Amino acid sequence: MLPVFRRRPRYSIGSKLTLIIGAVFGLYLLSVTVIGYVMYSQYRGFSTLASSHFDRAMTAAELTRDAETIAAEVFEMLVSSERSINAGNRRAENLASIYQATRQRLDAVDASDVVDDQTRAELDRWQQPFFSSLERLDTRLAAEQSLQAAHLNRIDELFLLLQQLPPVATTASLPAADQRFVGHALAALSYAAAALSAERPGQIARLHGACQQQLQQLAALSLVSKDFIELRKRLNRTLPSIFTSRRPLLQHGRATLATARQTRVLAQKLTSTTFNYHLQLKAAAQQAITVHQRMIRRSLFGLLLASLALITITVGAVVYIRRAIVLRINRLSAAMHAHQQGHDGPIPCEGHDEISLMGSTFAVFVEARRQAEQQLEQANLHLQQMNAELHRLSEIDELTRIANRRRFDQHMASVWRRALREQSPLGLIMADIDFFKRFNDEYGHQAGDECLYRVAQALAGELHREGDMVARYGGEEFILLLPGLSLAQTEKLARRLLRAVRSLQIPNDQAEGHMVTISLGGASVVPTTHDRIESLVSRADQALYAAKSRGRNRFCSAVADDQNVMVGGTT
Ligand code: GH3
Ligand code: MG
Ligand code: MG
Repeated sequence: MLPVFRRRPRYSIGSKLTLIIGAVFGLYLLSVTVIGYVMYSQYRGFSTLASSHFDRAMTAAELTRDAETIAAEVFEMLVSSERSINAGNRRAENLASIYQATRQRLDAVDASDVVDDQTRAELDRWQQPFFSSLERLDTRLAAEQSLQAAHLNRIDELFLLLQQLPPVATTASLPAADQRFVGHALAALSYAAAALSAERPGQIARLHGACQQQLQQLAALSLVSKDFIELRKRLNRTLPSIFTSRRPLLQHGRATLATARQTRVLAQKLTSTTFNYHLQLKAAAQQAITVHQRMIRRSLFGLLLASLALITITVGAVVYIRRAIVLRINRLSAAMHAHQQGHDGPIPCEGHDEISLMGSTFAVFVEARRQAEQQLEQANLHLQQMNAELHRLSEIDELTRIANRRRFDQHMASVWRRALREQSPLGLIMADIDFFKRFNDEYGHQAGDECLYRVAQALAGELHREGDMVARYGGEEFILLLPGLSLAQTEKLARRLLRAVRSLQIPNDQAEGHMVTISLGGASVVPTTHDRIESLVSRADQALYAAKSRGRNRFCSAVADDQNVMVGGTT
């Protein structure tokens, strides 16, 4: 049965290949897009990290440094023995403006997403008091500066007053009151000088009291020297003011110290807050780095997965193409080649695609060819049978069913060559029905034909050896070819032939014995290259003629003796 021929494959290899290539390309595009997006995100992230987080962290660190510097500067101002106020204030002002500028820079980059509001409020909370305190400190230091200046003037005044007193060694020549004046004046000046460096209010009060006593002593003196009288006035004018000015200076100094300490505390608070600010920004930067590291890890993992998927799909595609296309085409090609070489074998037709369609189509052609070959073979066989039959018919006499003259001639030539080669005798008998014309006339032509058939079959029935042949030589004449038979053996067979025909007992009233008989003429020869077939036939024919002449129903043999033929006979 022929395979079912399908016009269109159910599953197209082309469509599958297109699908596979499309899938691989799509995955490639997807991977490229994902990788591109991830790289862009990382680029953006690192840009943000570089331009924002690090900037802010660095600015915050700068702010911390500024606050620290200001605090250190304040400390330096406090411990400075000279208290170079103007220079110090200017430095503090400069540092404060630097701090403000840094803070503004920090506020310019919005850090609200990474720094909590509490820290920012803390910064605002400590910043303003710190600068207010710094300003107060400035004011106090400025005031202290003027107080210090007045203080120095008083020292100068004391020095001038002291210079107006005569040396103690020269006072012996002075009146007693003047001598006491010098002593009290020196004592009062020394109390006042001591008050200039006194640090405690009680000490100043005691010195003030002592100085007042000395001034009272001075007031009780009746002085002679006008200079001393003038000097006593100046002492009464100057010295009390030294004690009154020393106390505010001390108080101012302590207040300044308190302000400075407060400023220092505020500076520490501010420094701590800015440091906290810096820490938060640093933590945010660190977190951003961690996020990016995680993103990079995920990207690499995604890239690895995409690569593995690509490799898997590619390997799968290669395996599929090899199994679904290459191997099947190879098998189909091998099967086609085998069929071309004439070897039968199974044709792969499994599947529902183009290759299976090719296989099915090829199988259809192979089956068609096989059927054609089978039909051709049958036709050839039939032809051979027809040829054989034709051949047989061409060699058999149709009436008598024995070999015809043509067959005899062929067989005679072959038997002659064999006898010549083997140098064996070859016997030949010519037979002729006696008075057959009369038989026909008497019994009809159809009976004649029947008689011919029976006589021929009777003659054939006496031949048993291979190579023996009886043929219709023409009309009612027969010829018998007897390989290996000498003349004597031929004669022996002839007698059997005569008996066989007589035993048919076919009536022939027109014959002498009223029965159908035959006459036989025989000859035998061991052929040589000089002999001819025709001469053997001729001698047998002559012997037949002799048998007819001698009364029919007999056998005559012919023996060759040069050109003459000797004829013998038997009945
Ligand atoms: P003889 O004894 O001398 O041979 O006499 P004869 O009559 O047999 O020989 P003749 O040659 O005179 O006659 C032969 C006859 O054989 C003539 C012919 O009618 C007959 N004959 C030849 N072929 C056939 C045939 O195929 N069928 C029939 N019915 N008769 C045939
Ligand atoms: Mg005849
Ligand atoms: Mg005859």
